Amino acid sequence: MKFVIDHDFHIHSFLSLCSKDENQTKEAILAYAKKNGLKKICLTDHVWDTNVCSFTGTHFYAYQTIPHIRQALPLPQAEGVEFYFGCETDMDKFLRVGMARESFDQFDFVIIPTTHMHMGGFVIEWEDDSVERRAELYIKRLDALLDMDLPFEKIGIAHLTCSCIAAPVEKQLAVLQAIPDAELYRVFGRIARAGAGFELNEEIADYTAEQLPHIARYYRIAKECGCKFYLGSDAHNGRALDGAMKKFERMVDLFGLEESDKFRPLG
Ligand SMILES: [Zn+2]
Ligand SMILES: [Zn+2]
Repeated sequence: MKFVIDHDFHIHSFLSLCSKDENQTKEAILAYAKKNGLKKICLTDHVWDTNVCSFTGTHFYAYQTIPHIRQALPLPQAEGVEFYFGCETDMDKFLRVGMARESFDQFDFVIIPTTHMHMGGFVIEWEDDSVERRAELYIKRLDALLDMDLPFEKIGIAHLTCSCIAAPVEKQLAVLQAIPDAELYRVFGRIARAGAGFELNEEIADYTAEQLPHIARYYRIAKECGCKFYLGSDAHNGRALDGAMKKFERMVDLFGLEESDKFRPLG
């Protein structure tokens, strides 16, 4: 049976500094779920736990603390829609995850991207700019995450292909192409065995027919490794919510996903 589009586990509200959309409220997000027949959605604002370390001044994560994003609670509910409370944390250049082990209990679901490499100086050193170095870090950072003792059954790994890996798109694809199949089978096999989710958050329409196979290779190998997938719009505003269903359909079709490939962290 074809993968059913019935959830979105990666959605930001205005509590994420990068949303810049005061209309991106929890009520607007619930309305999006109702309109599109989604049965489970999860709010995932950006967060860095001060139990790991604190940031000050204009640092993005000085603003994105756990008490800050908990202002969204309680979440509104509607018949037929379960609205969960999660977050999107990060991994810094010292390979620290931005959530203390005991803080995971405060969330239904935690997204951890290892590839926020657009955050120069924080996620990677500024000099780590070459294609080779970014490819090396892609693998090193995933291995570091999977070496940790974390509740992987409620963790989603985001942006395994994404413009945040490198820009422009030609450079992103060069990084992805620099990692051989064997290395992907090894690390994606680790994701499958850990039981973490593999996020589906690509805008297929942004790539040319020549570029798409380089993106699709990652999902094909992940699927062969037995990884389980979840949909994440990563919507930060209303326009992104409006486009989410089309984006989801294109991925499910291109990657040939089945219901048996679905990650089910929330029952
Ligand atoms: Zn992200
Ligand atoms: Zn996000």
